[in-house]
Amino acid sequence: MALTAVKGFNDILPDESGRWRYIEQTARRVFERNGFGEIRVPVLEKTELFCRSIGDATDIVEKEMYTFTDKGENSVTLRPEGTAGVMRAFIEHKLYAQDPIAKLYYMGPMFRYERPQKGRYRQFHQIGAEITGVNDPLADAQVLNMLTAFFREIGLTEPTLQINSLGCPECRPAYRNALRGFLEERMEHLCEDCKRRFATNPLRTLDCKVPGCVEATLGAPSVLEHLCSGCEDHFSSVRRYLDLSSTPYSINHRMVRGLDYYTRTTFEMVTGLLGSQSAVAAGGRYDGLISQLGGPAIPGIGFALGLERVALLLGSQDFVSLPDLFIATMGNGERDAAFRLMDGLLKSGVRVEMDYEGKSLKSQMRRADKLKARYSVVIGGNEVVSGRASFKRMADGLQADAELTVAGIQKLVGKPEQ
Ligand code: ATP
Ligand code: MG
Repeated sequence: MALTAVKGFNDILPDESGRWRYIEQTARRVFERNGFGEIRVPVLEKTELFCRSIGDATDIVEKEMYTFTDKGENSVTLRPEGTAGVMRAFIEHKLYAQDPIAKLYYMGPMFRYERPQKGRYRQFHQIGAEITGVNDPLADAQVLNMLTAFFREIGLTEPTLQINSLGCPECRPAYRNALRGFLEERMEHLCEDCKRRFATNPLRTLDCKVPGCVEATLGAPSVLEHLCSGCEDHFSSVRRYLDLSSTPYSINHRMVRGLDYYTRTTFEMVTGLLGSQSAVAAGGRYDGLISQLGGPAIPGIGFALGLERVALLLGSQDFVSLPDLFIATMGNGERDAAFRLMDGLLKSGVRVEMDYEGKSLKSQMRRADKLKARYSVVIGGNEVVSGRASFKRMADGLQADAELTVAGIQKLVGKPEQ
């Protein structure tokens, strides 16, 4: 039997990878313009890193991690998200000693043992960005504006920004109690997971997708009404900065995040087009995380976006790069000339294809069509002698006479001369 990939792990084929590169390139451009530098960290970390950062009582740590014991009896985990590893590296390399304000971005695969479906896989890819060392809400607003700019520049208007504040260790306990008080009277309507969450992590009940739980928590108290004055000021400043930059957003007081390290500002980019996989990007402030991991008391804020979900939203737009020219030959006598011309064109940056197998002219032209070449040319004895040929623009069949040289073809297909 032929071998297949592991369930929930996908191949990205050449048809699709152009779209991925476009997403990655847009992110790099937008993030680097904002002063972010790329960090590349391992996909495998000590399990403890994720338990201590994401939190033991979260879905990720409880159910979704790819954890195993290596040959040296160490418990290791394929990273389920990026922030923990990036902050581990930030602390390990004392990046804060040069400058506590670090702006970092990353991209790469993440691993969660979830039920695979459209927009949800076991290996998926995130692009994320983090700013450390800034308490001021201005950093929150810059991160949100950068995320908004990414979606605008990639050409998507659909995901919209929702923001919330989860408070801080000072005010959250009071909110948690208020929420428990509310849930206590509705216990019988909650799913088994939420009954458990009631004790361990009651805020997560607000994020449960089971219809009964959604209904039971409809009138739940709002976290925004339980913020301490510091958190309230912070949240209203974030909103003011967003207004100053005309960034559209809405407030969703029920938004909680599946990671324990978040404080104050949290946010999601949400779409209605991917069913229950509605979050395309998500993030928030994590003022306690760096010290929790053994580093100095430095605040941070960041987000991660899901590449697969962005790719789904981009739909079937063509991101495949197409040949500029297909060179066909009348017969074998012209193959050397065609090969030399192709070689010269490739060396000067023109994307060109020719027939590899000495097929008939008809089948060569079929291949030019199939490859969606922009131009085609047929080289016969006359063309070799005269050094000129008639080039066909494939989209409309328009014929243009041009020199059969690298320079002549560069001019025709509109590539910059080198
Ligand atoms: P969801 O509510 O859909 O499970 P999440 O809250 O677990 O998302 P985060 O941990 O915040 O998601 O990750 C950030 C982004 O990564 C998500 O907005 C989503 O685009 C993407 N993502 C998360 N899990 C998966 C997955 N299993 N497959 C594909 N993309 C994912
Ligand atoms: Mg999830």
